[in-house]
Amino acid sequence: MATTAEREAEGTHRPGKATVCAAPDRLEEACGVFAVYAPGEEVARLTGYGLQALQHRGQESAGIATGDGERLRCFKDVGLVTQVFDDDAMEALPGHLAVGHVRYSTSGAAACREAAQPHLSAIDEVDIALVHNGTLLNTDGLRREWEARGAAFASGTDTEVACRLIAEATRATGSVRQGIRRAMTELRGAYAMVLATPEALYAFRDPHGIRPLCLGSLPGGGWAVSSETCGLDIVGATYLRDVEPGEVVRIGADGLTAEPGPAAPTRASCIFEYVYFARPDSVIDGQSVYQARRAMGAILSREAPVEADLVLGVPDSGTPAATGYAEASGIPYAFGIVKNHYVGRTFIQPTQALRERGITLKLNPLPSVIAGKRLVVIDDSIVRGTTSRQLVAMLYAAGAAEVHLRIVSPEVAWPCFYGIDTATREQLLAAGRTVEEMNRWIGSDSLAFISLEGLHEAVAGAAHRHWCEACFTGRYPLEP
Ligand code: SF4
Repeated sequence: MATTAEREAEGTHRPGKATVCAAPDRLEEACGVFAVYAPGEEVARLTGYGLQALQHRGQESAGIATGDGERLRCFKDVGLVTQVFDDDAMEALPGHLAVGHVRYSTSGAAACREAAQPHLSAIDEVDIALVHNGTLLNTDGLRREWEARGAAFASGTDTEVACRLIAEATRATGSVRQGIRRAMTELRGAYAMVLATPEALYAFRDPHGIRPLCLGSLPGGGWAVSSETCGLDIVGATYLRDVEPGEVVRIGADGLTAEPGPAAPTRASCIFEYVYFARPDSVIDGQSVYQARRAMGAILSREAPVEADLVLGVPDSGTPAATGYAEASGIPYAFGIVKNHYVGRTFIQPTQALRERGITLKLNPLPSVIAGKRLVVIDDSIVRGTTSRQLVAMLYAAGAAEVHLRIVSPEVAWPCFYGIDTATREQLLAAGRTVEEMNRWIGSDSLAFISLEGLHEAVAGAAHRHWCEACFTGRYPLEP
């Protein structure tokens, strides 16, 4: 077995490749993290299952590092989890603990092996492996300081800088937990992280708790950490609770110990997780994502009613909201838009003409369902608006008599700086436009968005009421 450093250096099945991407017309997820502490279990395979459940959060690269009490081993590459890991790769990752990551880039190069996680660093004789969901706002300055002192970085990512910062702080304090604590006082931004040493796992979240992270217990007595509870479900773990903002949780031979940290004066968890990012079968802070989406649809039918024949959902995230809208309004729900799940973001579209065909590769209306019908079409959000415009044109071309767009998030008028890939403010359709101007540009018969109060009502089952909603309001919990 190669050492960590050797495995990092030797490459894997395929070399990293550059990718051409159009600016996104959705808010795109920015990574999923998963970890298990399970002596006697095949921890790499368990982590692979967890990462497959989180694949919707990132499709550019995947990686797993395992610890066996003495050393860490790591394997990562560009591609989906099932493309990166085969039986040989899994068997080369023994140990009693593992951390894993699926990536969607918001920092550093898009799809290349160097930017894939886990990132590794050495503290004297001890390796650490770090996985991160979020975006750090102040790591460029730290990187420049280190580079001026002669340090070299393998990737352009914020996570690699954080890994080095934690390693240096651990060396200075003589304790991983204290190293993490010290690094947390220096790092600004959104982070849900899991760090592995050869002996133990550490899970921690930024003081605002912007990105999600939860804990579960495994049937055999071990533990699991996941960005979402759907990752716990797939390995048979029982959801215990979410990691609190600012908290550091250690999982080792002596079990799970939690140390509360310096929570920010105001918690600010991402409310958009309920709208779009999270899987509908996940639970965040005690609130079911599926039930929240159903409620968003029902509330929107109250706030923006319309006379129509059918309710359609734009798959997949619009579907639960569409059923909620249908039930509350009494208008029948219909399956009228088919999604091709196999068109990835990294599909290379070399010309503008081909890029503009993007939506037709993904969505296809069913004329036999919608011809001659007045439609209410439920979608999760409007970013640049090009997708909505093309979808409305496709629905009319398929014979729709009327198309009324109903959106279960308020207008996205501000970019996200906390681990989500958005367009710039200038590219956001809602920036500086009225709803009627947006409606005219999209070409729908009517357009309406859920109110912020309505969205709060839909997630009222959560254990707190402190949300980041900066992409709707421009009020950022942390200065970008
Ligand atoms: S700005 Fe806040 S609410 Fe909007 S996507 Fe980013 S973290 Fe979520």
